[in-house]
Amino acid sequence: SVGIDWVKAWVGDTVRVVSENRVRLIELDREIGDGDHGENLDRGFQAVKAKFDALPDGETPAAALKLVATTLISTVGGASGPLLGTAYLKGSQALGDATSLDSAAIAAFLTAARDGVVMRGKAEVGDKTMIDAWTPAVDAASAAAEAGKSVAETLEAAASAAEKGAESTEPLVAHKGRASYLGERAVGHRDPGAESSSLILRAAADAAT
Ligand code: ADP
Ligand code: MG
Ligand code: MG
Repeated sequence: SVGIDWVKAWVGDTVRVVSENRVRLIELDREIGDGDHGENLDRGFQAVKAKFDALPDGETPAAALKLVATTLISTVGGASGPLLGTAYLKGSQALGDATSLDSAAIAAFLTAARDGVVMRGKAEVGDKTMIDAWTPAVDAASAAAEAGKSVAETLEAAASAAEKGAESTEPLVAHKGRASYLGERAVGHRDPGAESSSLILRAAADAAT
């Protein structure tokens, strides 16, 4: 099982990976959106980093993840801020005051996070959004947890499913978000939010190994 140290490592890896992929995410969003996704997320996670540098000792995973949520909601412009913020908020609420998270808790966290994005954005799989990364990740994590896999294996299953999910957005027409205004012109381009969600979930897996 994992605890607050995993949350801190996950957040640290996410800050780094979002910063490293800032330009790439901007370029993806320039193809089918308004070109700010990398900037939006990097601004948000730099603010999260500042908050985590001052995180008091003894915080629960839920409290730390709620801090990610409120920081993203208040600092990320654009659709992705409230959506990802709601993911971390609803995910954190599923953890209660647990200090130690097993693979079932991780699957419950990811499920609640995904459900939060759906509640807020009403996207379904195939709409060419971050949900195309999140839902396969949730399904893979739930199956892994039910099969008795470790936290690291459960997060690995989620991350690789999210990567495939992000890739699966390339041939799609978008039905939500800015890319939906483009119709067929969105075909052939990967959704930036699905890509960033797969990076975030890969960071979660890396932090557990
Ligand atoms: P904006 O489009 O406001 O500039 P961003 O560029 O930061 O915001 O984020 C765009 C991403 O948000 C999209 O690539 C998509 O993955 C995601 N997104 C947009 N609308 C929705 C929605 N209704 N549900 C889920 N995800 C969405
Ligand atoms: Mg944008
Ligand atoms: Mg924008």
